[in-house]
Amino acid sequence: MSEKRPVGFVSLVGGGPGAPGLMTLHGRRAIERADVVLYDHLASPALIASLIVEGQERIHVGKTAGAGLHAQNAINELIVQRASRGERVVRLKGGDPCVFGRGGEEASACREAGIPFEIVPGVSSVSAAPAYAGIPVTHRDTNSGYTVVTGHEREDEDVQRVDWVELARGGRSIVILMGVLQAERWSGALLKGGLAGETPVAWIERATTVRQRTVVTTLAEVVASRDAEGVRAPAIAIVGDAVRWRDELAWYEERPLRGEVVATTRAISDDRGAFESLEDQGAVVLHLPLTCQRHLDNRLAEALADSTFTDLVLTSANGVRALSRALESADRDSRDLANVEIWVVGPGTARALRNSLGLRADHLPALHSAAGLVTHAQRLGVQGRRFLFPAAAAARRELPDGLSELGAQVNEIASYETVAEPTATARLESALAQGLTWVAIASPSAADVLADALEALGHPLDQLSVGAVGPTTAQRARERGLKVRAVAEPHTMDGLAATISSTLSTSLEEY
Ligand code: SAH
Repeated sequence: MSEKRPVGFVSLVGGGPGAPGLMTLHGRRAIERADVVLYDHLASPALIASLIVEGQERIHVGKTAGAGLHAQNAINELIVQRASRGERVVRLKGGDPCVFGRGGEEASACREAGIPFEIVPGVSSVSAAPAYAGIPVTHRDTNSGYTVVTGHEREDEDVQRVDWVELARGGRSIVILMGVLQAERWSGALLKGGLAGETPVAWIERATTVRQRTVVTTLAEVVASRDAEGVRAPAIAIVGDAVRWRDELAWYEERPLRGEVVATTRAISDDRGAFESLEDQGAVVLHLPLTCQRHLDNRLAEALADSTFTDLVLTSANGVRALSRALESADRDSRDLANVEIWVVGPGTARALRNSLGLRADHLPALHSAAGLVTHAQRLGVQGRRFLFPAAAAARRELPDGLSELGAQVNEIASYETVAEPTATARLESALAQGLTWVAIASPSAADVLADALEALGHPLDQLSVGAVGPTTAQRARERGLKVRAVAEPHTMDGLAATISSTLSTSLEEY
């Protein structure tokens, strides 16, 4: 009996021009499902860092400008070889895979080897770069179309050359990719073809990334401006009257928080909403989890099984998660809590309780703190009641001591602890490579993990700006040598986002 060979699958995916949000949902899904991702220098580091998939292999098949047929053949072979083993392979490319991306050649290699493939188009720099520079590639008032050409022409005779003379006469915008090194050649050809020396040209470098830069010049000055401004690849040039729209429509490079890269660091990424206002002002917001929760033994499950308690007190969503796990491992469910009164410290915990166990809290104090809860208990009277308290390891004493003083019995069980997220240092390294400027932290342990990770990477601690959710977190961060530039008011994540935003706006005015 012959053994059937497993058949893999190849996705040729366009990663877009650089900003992680400019990749398609289909492309993201392909990456999430892949065993191996082959990427090159044009696939944005921000994108790759934003898509961490556990256990996935990633291979940099570095192919820079000028690397020839040989390198491409080796890549084709690698794609085929991995897929032939039965793996799902993603070949991730910058922009669109078939716009000067050799996607066609890679697809042919798959077809020849009998490997199923798909082509997932991407947002190409052809349209993304002009859009982010405020230059519409077509506009009814200036031009009726646009042409895309390579500015890097091969010398061989048998390849069809770009007809620059025809382009010069066409009256359309001309978008030139890979045109930095040979600008002398294409600009000379267009001038010779009859385009006026004053025709506007824009160089758009590293479009859609935090380092995007646009240099506006004229056809006659294109080489001089490249040299004077140090324009480097990857950059496109766009030639034609459409460039004039930039005076009116420039937007991306004008935004107040442009260049700021802000990381949120809690394990659960529901802070994103709070930080969206920073994104609207031009900052890039990353998720960089620094801490995570570890559940501790099953003493909580045993306590639940005893069921001698009359009240349950919860002080965070983590406590709710610990409770839910413990119920499960004690082979019980929320019905076993039917005769128990449930106390929560604030609305976030109440929400978690409702969402994960379908239970409504009986007691929610007006003041959302341990002291508020104790005051509430004092008003109602808790003499003789037996509280079960799934707590954080080394939690503060205020709540259990306060309830005991009121004559209650408190069975406090250390049920979870905050530990360093195992990938924190690696993620921080990639965030720094993406130009990280601010880190928002919500606990003293996050301050510790951040300081430890920076030390491990040999990165100066005081170069990053830190925003802290409250004074305790801020104090620990300062003790660890971090530079705290914003302390949230009020002490919530929304408050922190607002405080970082106003700190940044004020420091802009100072310049
Ligand atoms: N498949 C890619 C193009 C690959 S050819 C796409 O669809 O965008 C490489 C050229 O693309 C570069 O030399 C440059 O001209 C252009 N390019 C790619 N990304 C760019 C970016 N972020 N900003 C400006 N130009 C870019």
